Amino acid sequence: MGKVTGFMEFARIDEGYAPVEDRLKHYKEFVVGLNSQQAKQQGARCMDCGTPFCTSGCPVNNIIPDFNDLVYRADWASAFHVLDSTNNFPEFTGRICPAPCEAACVLNINDEPVGIKSIEHAIIDRAWEEGWVQPRPPKLQTGKKVAVVGSGPAGMAAAQQLARAGHSVTLFEKNDRIGGLLRYGIPDFKLDKVHIDRRAVQLQAEGVTIRTGVLVAGKEGLGKDSKVTNWAKETISPEQLKAEFDAVLLTGGSEQSRDLPVPGRDLDGVHYAMEFLPQQNKINAGDKIKGQLRADGKDVIVIGGGDTGSDCVGTSNRHGAKSVTQFEVMPMPPEQENKPMVWPYWPIKLRTSSSHEEGAVREFAISTKTFNGEKGKVKSLTTVQVEFKDGKLSEVKGTEKEWPADMVLLAMGFVNPVATVLDAFGVDKDARGNARATTDFSGGYATNVDKVFAAGDMRRGQSLVVWAIREGRQAARSVDEFLMGWSDLPR
Ligand SMILES: Cc1cc2nc3c(=O)[nH]c(=O)nc-3n(C[C@H](O)[C@H](O)[C@H](O)COP(=O)(O)OP(=O)(O)OC[C@H]3O[C@@H](n4cnc5c(N)ncnc54)[C@H](O)[C@@H]3O)c2cc1C
Ligand code: SF4
Repeated sequence: MGKVTGFMEFARIDEGYAPVEDRLKHYKEFVVGLNSQQAKQQGARCMDCGTPFCTSGCPVNNIIPDFNDLVYRADWASAFHVLDSTNNFPEFTGRICPAPCEAACVLNINDEPVGIKSIEHAIIDRAWEEGWVQPRPPKLQTGKKVAVVGSGPAGMAAAQQLARAGHSVTLFEKNDRIGGLLRYGIPDFKLDKVHIDRRAVQLQAEGVTIRTGVLVAGKEGLGKDSKVTNWAKETISPEQLKAEFDAVLLTGGSEQSRDLPVPGRDLDGVHYAMEFLPQQNKINAGDKIKGQLRADGKDVIVIGGGDTGSDCVGTSNRHGAKSVTQFEVMPMPPEQENKPMVWPYWPIKLRTSSSHEEGAVREFAISTKTFNGEKGKVKSLTTVQVEFKDGKLSEVKGTEKEWPADMVLLAMGFVNPVATVLDAFGVDKDARGNARATTDFSGGYATNVDKVFAAGDMRRGQSLVVWAIREGRQAARSVDEFLMGWSDLPR
């Protein structure tokens, strides 16, 4: 695999970024990928370790050593076929996957891991350029009809697999464009929406019917207070869907944002991240939004230290915020993990995103006590430092502090899927409020309701794009088995 001595000869090359002052002027992608020669050299670093932990570190089990070797040998078409055999959308993961595979790379024990994600990115971009990504419509139709509800990466992957197995698939989406959080959540500067659009064209050419602007819900809709994005013009009830289709797969994501119900929460200027980010996605797509939430000239506080918070930082800086400060309630993690202790698992360590590099003050071990306002508008917030004591976070006396804030974005994750939708189907929930379904081989992803399945964030809770693709693929196999009694779709 690769070049036997490659890992000793070549250093890791990371993908580059356009300069901060340039990229802050727009919402376009700014990662500078590896060129062919660099990718070849990086592929050469894969060291024939014998037990490729990377493959099991990757949730879709990409066959990483094989595509590394093929890129090293400049056989890009074969590298694409290997990659495509396990991952429906490598252009999504090659851009925004946190790459748990690299944490598991054997070279990562005492050196820098192989740049697997950058090689994946190079392969799929080359494949699109060369025209190797083509629709693969089925040779035979089974006559079975499947409804997939929710068009994020889980729903898209499942719809593609099921259509390729010959089923007649309809993909329902309440919003006006498909893609889920890839479309309305993740900023365009991390993932240009052209990548979703071309997959939509491919899905349709493979026989998937896409119905956007359709909410699948009971009488209660999404509930009164859910505040999730919804641009539906039509509602279809679970009963209608079950009557019309032979199987229904729910891939509606985990959309209910975690709230911070402290005094002042109802002040104007305190918003969920998911009220703020989708608006900018829409504007980038050419839509008009009345009264867009904007950060221009404001002191912005982002509460939550994860991906969503980082995306709020990047978007606020592009708006021209006066200052951006990000709070994380957990203590600052170490800059470097203790590799012998954690390898091959995902390490907790300080991660600095490209959005952080563009400008943000990061505060750790800090908790918000109140939002303070004047005339109904937020003006500041009061915090306190926290520390772990007896296994729980406790306030540190005398550390209260007031921070100026004209805009506060709550990016503390998502608690569960919208309950009313699962309730309308009669689907049992687990202790966290997600759709209850196991991933066991036989009968996996099936809920308690006859012919209703669930996958992606709606089943596993808030997670990653690569996990959603895995669940969509596996659930498709399960649905196929349910309909046909057997399946040759990959697990
Ligand atoms: C701001 C942000 C940044 C992120 N960044 C990253 C990242 O960098 N890397 C990464 O790997 N992951 C990231 N994630 C997480 C990742 O986006 C999700 O884990 C992933 O999109 C989940 O996929 P899904 O298909 O299960 O659900 P979703 O992507 O949430 O899609 C669900 C879709 O179902 C639709 N829907 C829901 N209910 C209904 C209904 N009743 N009727 C019709 N349609 C319905 C929704 O409108 C939505 O389009 C991020 C998440 C956010 C919010
Ligand atoms: S999908 Fe993610 S984990 Fe899998 S190979 Fe690509 S970057 Fe690594």
